[in-house]
Order: sequence, then structure tokens, then C-alpha cells
Amino acid sequence: MKQKPQLKIFSLGGTIAMAPTQDAESGVRPTFSAQDIIASTPELAEVADISAESLSLKGSANLCFSEIAELCQRAATVSTGGIMVTQGTDSMEESAFLASLLHRGPQPMVFTGAMRSPTQPGADGRANLMAAALTALTTEGPAVSVVMNDEIHHPYYVTKSHTSNVAAFQSPVRGPVGQIAEGNVFLHPVQPSPTFDIPEKFAPVALLSAVLDDDGNLFDTILSAGYTGLVVEGFGAGHVSEKIAEKLAAIAAKIPVILASRVRAGSVFERTYGYRGAEIDLLNKGLVPAGRLSGRKARILLSLILGLKEPDWRQGFTHVVKHV
Ligand code: ASP
Repeated sequence: MKQKPQLKIFSLGGTIAMAPTQDAESGVRPTFSAQDIIASTPELAEVADISAESLSLKGSANLCFSEIAELCQRAATVSTGGIMVTQGTDSMEESAFLASLLHRGPQPMVFTGAMRSPTQPGADGRANLMAAALTALTTEGPAVSVVMNDEIHHPYYVTKSHTSNVAAFQSPVRGPVGQIAEGNVFLHPVQPSPTFDIPEKFAPVALLSAVLDDDGNLFDTILSAGYTGLVVEGFGAGHVSEKIAEKLAAIAAKIPVILASRVRAGSVFERTYGYRGAEIDLLNKGLVPAGRLSGRKARILLSLILGLKEPDWRQGFTHVVKHV
């Protein structure tokens, strides 16, 4: 009999692991372990020999960078087959992005979860688990991917775009890098992306968004609050008001400041708009463009790079941006 491939599942919680509390009024809460999750999807055993480990059991807003780093350390000890990670969808794009910077493989790592908890009608967890398992057993995809609703997404681009729809995960402009249909995985070729060591500590990096008629008082608190980096999501292609531009210049004189966009798709500009507070002015003031990385992913990358204390943080940051 042909030996089945190995599949390791690490679970972190999320809706896929949630069940109603005794008192139905109190809603669903993280309940199921990795073992429970496997038991709920017997079809997994048809494609692989599964082993499972619960690393945490929480709503994904509570996950920390250190837990994703630990996950990647554990994943590095898996020597054959594929790796699946189940977690809440709320922060999945961030965890998967961080994992893509830390996971050196060679086993593919696939993040999945559910938009509907297991006891809800039309629960999507089982289907997502099966699609993720098939993807994790394929070596042609990205080293780390997000699989939801039969689509395979690259961690650089994927974002949760709806609070409840099972098709919530999208990769704006670029689209998914693959699909799963009838048990087959179809993938577009992808470039390998840069990886880094795990830092002893991630650096504290703040994320602020430009909003209309902002007094900018929050920007004044960045240095005294102990942040060692800042990401600002500008309007449009990377613009802020003149008032905020002056504040950013003062901050950028002291700590790294990254310019991203609050718009969901497209790159920040570098050489089009010349008025005060527009991208040319901000880059001249020392800000560094995030390219097509979202502000929240740029924050993770900067936190990692600064945590590594490399002499040239710009080089490490822009190296990744060029791959996006
Ligand atoms: N709504 C979330 C989920 O889909 C909850 C979480 O992210 O933990 O899992």
C-alpha cells in the first residue's frame, strides 16, 4: 500500500475552533483543540497522516508576534510533508505575512480558518481544512500561503475584505495565486521571497492613518510612547496634510518612518505629486515608501527588521518591498 504523506497541523484558535457557550446568548468562544479539529474532518486522513498540536486557543486579535515566531520554530522541525496552521481570520493576513518572513521551509505552510463556526449552518471550516491540506501537500506554491474558500493567496497581497462573507479573503489587483477544484490544486508560478532570522525581540512600531482634519495630536505622542518606528498610511498614493507632514519630518529625524497608503490596492507613489505633504515632500523628509505593502504588513516588516538590529534597516526593508 502506498504510504500517505505527513501533514502537521498547528492550531491557534479562531472561529474554526469556536463553539457556543452553555448560555447561548453569550456567543461562541475558542473551544476546540487541534485534535478536535482533525476529528471533525475525517476526510483529512484520506489524503495524509495527520499529527496535530494546539499552540494556543484564542481569538486572533490576541495573537502576538512571538507566537508566530514560535510557530515557525516548531515548523522548522517538521521534516517531511506539509504544515497547516489554523487560526482566526481577523488577523490571518498579518500572521501569514510574518510567517512568510520567518519560515524557511522546506515544507509549505498553509494558513486557514473559517468565517462560520462549526455549529453554524454552512460552516466553512471543513472545506477550508481539506483545501488547505491539499495545498500544503503541494510544493509549487508560495512557501507560506492563505487558503480560504478554495482559493490560494500569497501572504504579501491577501487581505480580509468582508466581515462575514465566506469569500472574505481577496488579493486586490493581483488575485489568488491558485485554486482548488475537485481535489486538484492549480497554481500559478511564484517567486521565492526573502526570509529573516527570528529576532530576540520585535521592535515596537506604531501604525497611524491619515484622516481628514486631523489635529495630529496622536503623532506627537509617538516618540514619548517609546515607539522605535512608525508607519503612516497616507491618503491616496501617500499624502498627508501640511500639518502632519511637519510632524512626520520631526519624527523621521529620530526614528524610521514608513509611508504606506490607506487605500486597499496599489503602490504608494514616489515622484508624481510635489505639493507639501505629498509623496515627494515626505520622501525628502526621510520617509521610506512601502511600495505595495499595506500599512499593517509594513509595520510587521519594520518591527522585524528593527528587532534584528541590522546596521542598515532601509536595505532590509526595501529588499522585501521590491519583491512585493
Ligand atoms: N472572526 C474571527 C475568525 O474568523 C475570530 C478570530 O479571528 O479569532 O476566526
